[in-house]
Amino acid sequence: MYENITLIQGDITAQDTQAIVNAANSSLMGGGGVDGAIHRVGGPAILAECKQIVARQGRLPTGQAVITTAGNMKARYVIHTVGPVWHGGDRDEDELLRNAYRNSLQVALDNNISTVSFPSISTGAYRFPIERAARIALQTVNEFLQQHPLEEVRFVLFSASDLECYRSIVHHLSRRDV
Ligand code: ADP
Repeated sequence: MYENITLIQGDITAQDTQAIVNAANSSLMGGGGVDGAIHRVGGPAILAECKQIVARQGRLPTGQAVITTAGNMKARYVIHTVGPVWHGGDRDEDELLRNAYRNSLQVALDNNISTVSFPSISTGAYRFPIERAARIALQTVNEFLQQHPLEEVRFVLFSASDLECYRSIVHHLSRRDV
């Protein structure tokens, strides 16, 4: 349980996994937080591919995921997903967050990617409570890894307190599983 999941404090743009996940918005045109950092470090090739995707299929619905190049970053691909904005919990936010993780991993699998880094989706500008989001993130990824053989899923937490939160939830969940 949880052995292919790693937790670190760091910057998502510096990760050497084959793919990194972007906490994007539906426009795929960039933004703040993780999204801004990815476009800044990765360069214009990412936005060019995002524009092509939107021209082809329209805005990306919440919970869905698409893939582009990672431009100048160490990773080869960026998987863009849209987490839910937190509105208090009665607008399907939990299920939409689950979908964002699950669909990102499915896109990885479909592209023969076996190592992926995730930021803490929706817990910045989208205001999803961190503990609740961490529990959903870890449970969803763990369930996916029971069914599909990915080598590593890395959670890259920006702050020490977010890392501590994810750690304590892994501890709690893995005790409950045994
Ligand atoms: P959302 O809009 O989905 O809430 P944000 O990008 O605003 O996404 O924030 C998601 C989380 O990512 C927050 O915890 C934020 O502190 C963190 N974060 C911001 N920049 C980075 C980065 N470069 N690497 C990793 N995490 C980051």
